[in-house]
Amino acid sequence: MTAKSKKYTGASSFVDIDNSREEEQVKIMEQIIEEGHCPFCLENFFKYNSRDLLKESQHWILTLNKWPYKNTKHHFLAILKEHAENMQEIPPEAGKELIELFQWLEKKYSIPGGGFAMRFGDTNYSAGTVKHIHAQLIVPDIEEEEFKPVRFKIGKG
Ligand SMILES: [Zn+2]
Repeated sequence: MTAKSKKYTGASSFVDIDNSREEEQVKIMEQIIEEGHCPFCLENFFKYNSRDLLKESQHWILTLNKWPYKNTKHHFLAILKEHAENMQEIPPEAGKELIELFQWLEKKYSIPGGGFAMRFGDTNYSAGTVKHIHAQLIVPDIEEEEFKPVRFKIGKG
């Protein structure tokens, strides 16, 4: 058992610290748990992130991941503007918009390939840190010398 899993209680109402990956991220998560609010709802988001959004649409804001995965060249986040945690809460039109935003990124950054993923619901199943719906576009840095494939975890363990 690691120090982290002994020390922390896991899921709060909005975030799951067990799924945090870095020390600084854990500290910010502790602050968020103390505040008792959702870090991805717009009224809180800018307390933890810069206001430099890449793009904004009716349903999403598009930003860089503050905690990019290792071996990534780009790691973008699209965050739903309304609080939602489950798939059923996402307006279907937001799905269309999401594809359009990712198409915009693909073109703007001349992305040759990569993957996109979105966790949802119970963080024991999703392995998400923040429950508020967000989608990730990940471009691996395959030219880096120490490159290892980027893995996206689904399910806490
Ligand atoms: Zn939220």
